Amino acid sequence: MWQGIHGHDVVVERFRHSLASGRLAASYLFLGPPGVGKRTFAVKLAQALLCPRDQAGQLQPCGECESCQLVSAGNHPDLDVVGLPAGKRWLPVELFLGDRDHRNQVGLCHNVSLRPQMGRRRVAIIDDADHLTVESSNCLLKTLEEPPPGAVMILIGTSRGRQLPTILSRTQTVRFSALSPDTVRQLLIEQQIATDPAQAEQLARVCDGSLSKAAELIDPELWDMQRSLLPQLTPARFDSVRLASELTAFVNQAGKEADARRGRIRLTIQMVANHFRHLLRASCSSQSADLPELHELQPQGAAAQDLALAVLDRSLEAEVQLDRNANQATLIECWLDDLASIFAQHAYPAAHI
Ligand SMILES: [Zn+2]
Repeated sequence: MWQGIHGHDVVVERFRHSLASGRLAASYLFLGPPGVGKRTFAVKLAQALLCPRDQAGQLQPCGECESCQLVSAGNHPDLDVVGLPAGKRWLPVELFLGDRDHRNQVGLCHNVSLRPQMGRRRVAIIDDADHLTVESSNCLLKTLEEPPPGAVMILIGTSRGRQLPTILSRTQTVRFSALSPDTVRQLLIEQQIATDPAQAEQLARVCDGSLSKAAELIDPELWDMQRSLLPQLTPARFDSVRLASELTAFVNQAGKEADARRGRIRLTIQMVANHFRHLLRASCSSQSADLPELHELQPQGAAAQDLALAVLDRSLEAEVQLDRNANQATLIECWLDDLASIFAQHAYPAAHI
């Protein structure tokens, strides 16, 4: 553990090594699943880079000096942090260059170009880099290409596929892994997200190593949905019309806010995908005999694996459509209709041979 951050010791060592050898890059792109601590890591790294007492490059911010305290309070004059504004789907140009009346007089790119006020360098963190538009990323290119001496830019995103090629070619990628179930369990208790160890254990098993996903999964209505949904995911029981109405009711319970509604659709799609990923893994290993779900999934063997792969493919596609802001009602209907077709095609493959 480094500075209260769990699970990313490999990344810490990489930065220590870069600092020790004088090879700290000017621009980094942090990539990894949501909710694993990339932003917390970036801020802690900035604190270490700005702390005047961390001269040896040990990445040990003292936590006590004025600089460290200003970083903790979110007020350091040499640290800029931007992210997706509430309710927006893209990072607007104004964050980087200022609004029309103050173009190039304020904003992240302007601030980074100034002399540091307190120490050796400036640091800029751009969270939600998955949501850079071509226009906003163009504003950044010059700063990424010719950063002022000592400046460090940190972009934070989830996957390479979601970054623009112009950003990828100008930054060094640093990968963050999903957290281990043990780490998630510990953090859920430490941060008082889970109310008791049993709940932490249950969440850690299903959150794919993401603390933010674990927090979303606490919702008891989600567990009710899962209890109803999973037994219906067999060719014999799958009824896309009934499921569409159940899912729509579940989404409506989230209220009118678009992000909350989208969150529930995403969690449901992931629940279905995880169920089939689990079945696929089990059917490829010797555990299959112990899994009651697998016996219910007619057909069996290779045909069951084909079915699981087809459901996974279609569910990943639905998640991408959700990210692209597709109409939610149409998305639910088309996804479930397609799953119904997949179940129908795979129900009794022997009969078609
Ligand atoms: Zn300090």
